[in-house]
Amino acid sequence: MTHAFGLFWDVDGTMAETEGDGHRQAFNAAFAERGLPWRWSMDGYHQLLQISGGEERLRHWLATAPPGAPGDQAGQWAMAADLQERKQVHYGCIVAAGGLPPRPGVVRLIQAAAAAGWQQWIVTTSRRRAVEALLRTQPFQPLASAFCGWVCGDDVARKKPDPQAYAMALRQSGLAPHQVVALEDSPHGLEAVCRAGLRCLVTPSQVTADQRFVGAAAVVNHLGDGLQQPTTVVLGPALGPQAHVDLAYLQGLLPGGQPPSASPSLES
Ligand SMILES: [Mg+2]
Repeated sequence: MTHAFGLFWDVDGTMAETEGDGHRQAFNAAFAERGLPWRWSMDGYHQLLQISGGEERLRHWLATAPPGAPGDQAGQWAMAADLQERKQVHYGCIVAAGGLPPRPGVVRLIQAAAAAGWQQWIVTTSRRRAVEALLRTQPFQPLASAFCGWVCGDDVARKKPDPQAYAMALRQSGLAPHQVVALEDSPHGLEAVCRAGLRCLVTPSQVTADQRFVGAAAVVNHLGDGLQQPTTVVLGPALGPQAHVDLAYLQGLLPGGQPPSASPSLES
């Protein structure tokens, strides 16, 4: 039986700690490869993440005139394009080496939602190539059939926090906003979800842990995996007896939803 529910997944930071451990390291590898003296620290990268999109982030960085950057915009944009290209290659190598495992509960929840007939979509404004690199590694690769489709940065004109990617996934899914929960890790992602009229569960990542998440239906440390890796609720309804985020909990975040204690678990 198909339930009329949707689960929309952000990728970077939500499915895996791709930002600090993956993208940042890949940028640094590209800088080193081109003989450039820059190395982005975790703290500095926090700030740079205000700019969505790798190439946009590089253009922004080069415009701050770090030593070795071209002085003119055309030169900066050409260098950004080259570095972005090389960064993608390095990112693929980091991912292929198994450097970015899924965050707690991600695999469990994808499997549970698939078993219950929820429509799952990838909704990211990262490049499709980077998303493919991650999702074709273990343990993501066997889960590919759980997703109805992907909306990536290549598909939209405006990146998050613009709601365009979510609006596109919603239209393609045929679901109504009140049937969908989106999972995000960042304020930009949360804003995109809210502006698309959807409910959002936020699982802050390494690089967003100290941020504020105004408008989230719930904020939890991670999705959790039973009592071994229990979820801690920062904001929102209490968890059911499983001590992790399950489908009943997500349903409880929807308009008119019941808290988990009042509805049977869909996973049992
Ligand atoms: Mg994210």
